[in-house]
Amino acid sequence: CGIVGYIGHRQAYSVVVKGLQRLEYRGYDSAGVALLDGDLNVYKKQGKVATLHDFAKDQDIDANVGIGHTRWATHGVPSDRNAHPHVSNSGRLVMIHNGIIENYAAIKTELSKKGYTFNSDTDSEVFINFIEDIFQNTQVDLAEAVRLALTKVVGAYAIVILDKDNPDLVIAARKGSPLVVGLGKDEFFLASDATPIIEYTNEVVYLDDQEIAIIENKKLTIKNIEDVEMKPYIQKVDMEL
Ligand code: GLU
Repeated sequence: CGIVGYIGHRQAYSVVVKGLQRLEYRGYDSAGVALLDGDLNVYKKQGKVATLHDFAKDQDIDANVGIGHTRWATHGVPSDRNAHPHVSNSGRLVMIHNGIIENYAAIKTELSKKGYTFNSDTDSEVFINFIEDIFQNTQVDLAEAVRLALTKVVGAYAIVILDKDNPDLVIAARKGSPLVVGLGKDEFFLASDATPIIEYTNEVVYLDDQEIAIIENKKLTIKNIEDVEMKPYIQKVDMEL
């Protein structure tokens, strides 16, 4: 339901948790974060962002790359294990997802035949493993694997993905669910709306439907699902906090 992401020089955890709190008005049943600094740490809890924070504040939260999610359950009951982020079978990819993947059951059956296992009942965990399967079985980079997966999924999504083996990379995409990229100085923010971003920067790019944002080595590239590169349209937002 709510998405926040950060890559830069700040402590990602505080940016992300503060951002999730700003998105609380959207409603949710659980919350979680994934933090990347060599290790990938995922903390998720059913309940309030405050419940997540009570748990996570005593864990390893030192990282400059992170994503966070507040979930409004559509597939699978509200619970710790169904909360996002979801990690792929290899342990390498991690994703947050808003929306619904309508053809997840067919994809799950195919992945199960290939030996994939699932730790949750969500459509979202199927989605990240579908991306992983394409990534591992084709000679393409992760952004292209994501694009190929998006040409095959049916439904609505706003997603943000991190790669444990490449902490300089963040991939995001949307269709039907909103997603905003905030541009700072050598730092980037992602969120469902601009409210988590505006205290850091007023330069934002609203992703269009079927667009993919690739933030790699401090550079933002946007392409669409047809693999056409788009020039980012940077808007200035002036909002009162
Ligand atoms: N369909 C996903 C789930 O049930 C995402 C729900 C959401 O948008 O929060 O976990």
